[in-house]
Amino acid sequence: MIIDVHTHINNYHEERVTSLEASLNHLSDTMKENKVDYSLVLSSYKVNQHRPSTKQVVEAIRGRDNLGVVAGISYLHYNHRDLREISEYLEAGLIKGLKFYPGYEPFYPNDSRMKVMYEMAIEFDVPVMFHSGDTYAPTGKVKYSHPLHIDDLAVDYPDLKIVICHVGNPWIRDCMEMVYKNKNVYADISGLVLGDFSDKFERHMKNEIEEMINYAGDPNYLLYGTDWPISNMKSYLKFMDQLELADDKKELIMWKNAAELFKIDTSKF
Ligand SMILES: [Zn+2]
Repeated sequence: MIIDVHTHINNYHEERVTSLEASLNHLSDTMKENKVDYSLVLSSYKVNQHRPSTKQVVEAIRGRDNLGVVAGISYLHYNHRDLREISEYLEAGLIKGLKFYPGYEPFYPNDSRMKVMYEMAIEFDVPVMFHSGDTYAPTGKVKYSHPLHIDDLAVDYPDLKIVICHVGNPWIRDCMEMVYKNKNVYADISGLVLGDFSDKFERHMKNEIEEMINYAGDPNYLLYGTDWPISNMKSYLKFMDQLELADDKKELIMWKNAAELFKIDTSKF
């Protein structure tokens, strides 16, 4: 069983417009090719013709049992309609989590403007995911996406379940300490490469992830995710294959932790 907790259906080749249906079919086909059973689709903090809104994604995935939605939230632009929509979707079980984009937007995770979001996440018991580490765009401001800032939030909201995306790359040591210290903090390994892993980078990341597990203990905090279509699913599975880990620990990362954290009903697929 494989659960990918981090995919997008944004169109990153903005010279042409792709329909939402075509993007979802592309995702489904790629999952099938790689024997991925379930994926979470993360919507963006921006909405435009290349980046569908949470509402569009929620409506488009209806009837696709192997996809779930995590709602992207804009720190700068959310309004009362967004709050109402998110709370209704949470209540109806139509979204599996919330995603925030510090670094792409200028705020620290424990900013009081986001308190209402965190309270909703606690009430409906869904995790909150944070972009962390390097930004894909040079216009990002990485002091905001440093994983160390997750600590304030984790301590102030012990009932909030927090996911550090991309293991905070390149600040993986800081991410290690976050998951070691805080029981409510998890990390996904998505987005470590654009496209495929090179052999050299694969060896480097293998060491980093193994070191993380040596330091922080059994990987009940680590989640498999790719950041597809930015990273290649096949190359990611190959990367997981060469990690030196017992099968039961690998299983935690590949799906068990995700199924529990996001309440994904694995009997459906
Ligand atoms: Zn992503």
